[in-house]
Amino acid sequence: MPISIIHGRVIDPSQQLDRVCNLRIEAGKITEIGGEAREGDDIFDATGKIVAPGLIDMHVHLREPGREEDETIQTGTLAALHGGFTSVACCPNTVPPIDSQATVEFVQQQALRGGNCNVFVLCCISKNREGKELAELGQLFESGAVACTDDGSPVEDAELTRRAFEYCLMFDKPLLSHAEVTSLTNGAVMHEGKVALQLGLRGMSVAAEDVMVAQDITLAGITGGRLHVMHVSTEGAVGLIRRAKSRGIRVTAEVTPHHLTLTDESLKTYNANFKMSPPLRSQDHVDACIEGLRDGTIDVIASDHAPHATEKKMRELDQAPFGIIGLETMLPVVSTKLVRTGILDWSAVIAKMSTNPARILGLAKGTLQVGADADVTVIDPEKRWTVRAEDFHSKSKNSPYIGWELTGKAVAVFVGGQRKMSWNDQSNQSLRSYEQ
Ligand SMILES: [Zn+2]
Ligand SMILES: [Zn+2]
Repeated sequence: MPISIIHGRVIDPSQQLDRVCNLRIEAGKITEIGGEAREGDDIFDATGKIVAPGLIDMHVHLREPGREEDETIQTGTLAALHGGFTSVACCPNTVPPIDSQATVEFVQQQALRGGNCNVFVLCCISKNREGKELAELGQLFESGAVACTDDGSPVEDAELTRRAFEYCLMFDKPLLSHAEVTSLTNGAVMHEGKVALQLGLRGMSVAAEDVMVAQDITLAGITGGRLHVMHVSTEGAVGLIRRAKSRGIRVTAEVTPHHLTLTDESLKTYNANFKMSPPLRSQDHVDACIEGLRDGTIDVIASDHAPHATEKKMRELDQAPFGIIGLETMLPVVSTKLVRTGILDWSAVIAKMSTNPARILGLAKGTLQVGADADVTVIDPEKRWTVRAEDFHSKSKNSPYIGWELTGKAVAVFVGGQRKMSWNDQSNQSLRSYEQ
């Protein structure tokens, strides 16, 4: 049955569209913008809501295969739907890592079986993520991997990175870099600075990020390859990326909600839900990331959703693993802390959470143009709610935002024209779909 989403504020940065109108979906595609609903259409009333191209989180850890105690493709993609995402790109630091065609296909099949959102696979740069030998990038891209990364670890060997860029260039794929010089971060728990000194904890120097971003940019420059810097967290990195862009080097960048909203002061709680890599920095770095986001240096907001089972995060701060979940809080945190404060408008947010990630990964997504896949996210910008651990759909609960009161939430998600998530006010929880 055709669906008409009526009376919503349709915002689509891919066609500079921002106006109240109807959107019609038929046979999985967008078929009309600005027309009238027809008799027999399934009507979704989006009055007071934003209707956006389906949101895309280009940096997510789904943990399957190998770490199903933390997350599965099924639970991770369900969390994605509830966060308003119609597509995610998943990182290859699984067990085994995604460095073979068979593993790429396994993930694709599990995602299909899950039937939640679209999953795009990121493959390893190096075999077994060891940073020593290139993975079979050509084969991996041919089997559907949309980009490569050794995320979780950097590729520190400059010659290996240079050759990876050369391969990526042949297939027009970006290389996604987790930028870190590990000799500067070994054994460290948090950002190196005043707070680490007070707490007596070993800190990670900003140089660990800045030096590797400089190396990656240099190698992108000489090869002509496309670099995407993941989870930018330092003033230095933002400056390097800004300058590289102005010189015409093909570099894009992302920042996470936590690096925009939290600082190393949070570690004074000794709560491991504030422990991640790169670490929460001091306010001057947060401000630089916000400025980079505002002036277009940073193209994307991504969650770096990194689930860890509760018992792992309950360990002492220096023993607990790095990372936090983010799929279900990213849009609300951005809405509350960046939109409502006037830092970004909704059009910019949607560009950074849909249009830009689609462009960087080469996906035919991130648009509501007639003929496009009907991936649509409906956002209630005024919805007030409180983050509670028991409401997460993710298998893990390691969020620094538990207890926060937020304003703004995705209330319905359509993937390929099928309604996969809708928020139910009566029960104060979201229900899956009306066809199930
Ligand atoms: Zn990383
Ligand atoms: Zn990551």
